[in-house]
This record gives sequence, C-alpha cells and structure tokens, in this order.
Amino acid sequence: MPRYVPGARGSAERLPPIKLSSNENPYPPLPSVAQAIGAQGQLAHLYPDMFAVELHERIGAFLGLPAASVAVGGGSVAALQHVLQAYAGPGDEVIFAWRSFEAYPILTQITGATPVQVPLGQDGRHDLDAMAGAITDATRVIVLCSPNNPTGPALRSAEVEAFLARVPSRVLVGLDEAYVEFVRDPDVVDGRAALDRHRNLLIARTFSKAYGLAGLRVGYVAGDPELIAPVRSCVTPFSVSAPAQAAAIASLDAQDELLERVELVVAERERVVPALAELGWDVPEPQGNFVWLAAGERTAQIAGALADLEPAVLVRPFAGEGMRVSIGTPEQNDALLAALGSIR
Ligand code: PMP
Repeated sequence: MPRYVPGARGSAERLPPIKLSSNENPYPPLPSVAQAIGAQGQLAHLYPDMFAVELHERIGAFLGLPAASVAVGGGSVAALQHVLQAYAGPGDEVIFAWRSFEAYPILTQITGATPVQVPLGQDGRHDLDAMAGAITDATRVIVLCSPNNPTGPALRSAEVEAFLARVPSRVLVGLDEAYVEFVRDPDVVDGRAALDRHRNLLIARTFSKAYGLAGLRVGYVAGDPELIAPVRSCVTPFSVSAPAQAAAIASLDAQDELLERVELVVAERERVVPALAELGWDVPEPQGNFVWLAAGERTAQIAGALADLEPAVLVRPFAGEGMRVSIGTPEQNDALLAALGSIR
C-alpha cells in the first residue's frame, strides 16, 4: 500500500506523487553503489580528494582517453558552466538550439556573453543549417544537445559531421550527451568517436541519468587536454563531494548492471510511445528517457489536471508549447497513460 504523506497544498493528506518531471532514473542506487556512498559517511569530517584524481582516471579509462582529457564538476550543468566560463565572456556569442536545455541561456548570461537561440526545426530537431548560418565573428561556443531536452530527438552522425565542417576551428563546440546511454538509433552521433576527428569538440556527460546519481551531482566534460585545461582551472575546488566521487567510481564498476536498468527504461519508452499515439499524441522520436507531448495552448491545463490527480502525476510543462514527461517504471508509465486517457 502506498504511504500517505502531508499534502503540498493545505492540510489534505496526499499519496506520494508520480514524479515524471525531471528525467530522473526511476530506480534507486544499486546496493554496491549505496554501500560506497554509505562508507563515506564515516569520513565526512575530511575533505574529498581535491582533484578527484581517481575519478578523472576512471572516466578517462572508460572513454579511452587520458585523465587530462576529463574535467569533472558538480553535475554536467556545472561542467558546462565551467566550459562557458573558460571560453566565453562579454562581447562573445554562444549559439544553441531553442527550445533546448534551460540552463544554456542562464549559463551563457552568467559569463556576460550573448545567447543566440536558433529555433528547432521540424519534429523538435536541431536546425543545424540555421545554426551554421548563425555563426558570426563573435561566435565563441556552440552547444548541441543530443538527445535534445525537452523534445527528444538525437543528432545523426552524418549531420553533425557536415555541421562541424562548417564551423571555424576557433569556435568551440560542446556536444551535450546527458542522455546518450538511452540512444538506440545506430545513426546517432557518438560524441566519444567524434572527439577523435575534431579538436574543437567537447562532450558533456553525466552520472545523473542512466547512472541514477542525480542527487549526488557528478558530471564531466571530455576532449583534447589542451581544451580541457582552461575548463579545469574554472572548477570550484572540492566541488565533487567524496560520496559523489565514490558513487561515480562504484557506478563505473557496476556498469553492466546499470545498463540493464537503462534497457528497462528504453523498453518502456518503446512501449509508451505507441500507447501515446493511440491516445492521439504525435511524439517526436525520443532517444532519451523522456517524451515530448506538444500540447500547445492546452499545456498548462493538462499539466494542472495531471497534478490534481490522486496520486498527482508530475510532468514538466512549458506553457503554450508542451510537456516533457520522463519514462518511469512500468507502473508509473501505466499511471501516466491512464491519467492522460482520463483527462482528454
Ligand atoms: N544536459 C541536459 C541536456 C540535461 O537535460 C541535464 C539535466 N536535466 C543536464 C545537462 C544536467 O544534468 P546534471 O547537472 O544533473 O548532470
């Protein structure tokens, strides 16, 4: 039986919500990872390894790169912030698709640079032609998001190669692959492989999604050591805590088990998309652990109705545009489908 908890609004008791609003992994940490986190409790009076040496080495080994090719941060959002701090400032332009990850304009503005938002094309895909056309002498950084949050489609290798051929080598390209482990389309770009071909490319990845460590905050960027060195010098000292470092290392050790869970989420995505189509939703091809429901003007109303259900179904609305809904456990996804069916 679900446990009742105090309601968020007023005094009414409510069931715990079905939280599909943050693209989290629906599964809790593996026992081996939880144990690694727990063991750090006894050491909480000590600072973590300031340079996270083992974590950099382990991520490097995982990618087949030297440790100097990696810069870790408190989540990939922090790692991306350090990239922008290192490479962009007042008078510079940073190009990215829009709508995409909400942090891009914020992180750009923090550096004093100007965000240049290029509207997505058909089906929530990047319009790479328009993005290449937006490059000016002031462009310093371009951020690509594959799969794109919140719309779902990923970039194909061939289109990324054609795009990169049009980007001057003085411009840094950051490929944000926060959801790369959920990709199943073989034509989608593999940022790691692309790094070998492009010296002005960085990839950003995270332990928050496929590895299920969103609450601990570990992510990284990787690329040529010469590109990474200035990023590392922007990292706040001790920014990845000891439990987070230990959990990330334990997760790399438990790779196979974790990727089995990713497989479950992908299987659920493949089940949910046709079920949504039956309910009348035309979903852009999702390659991450979330789907985009283009509800347009009805977005706020539908998201509100879902939140009013008991238990509440929480999605991420973008008023006037649509809703991003994470793929959860089979039970959570069934609840979502039933809820969407009931409020139409
Ligand atoms: N990039 C994208 C595209 C994301 O959707 C997110 C999280 N929503 C992040 C980066 C940041 O994730 P984290 O900081 O947890 O690594």
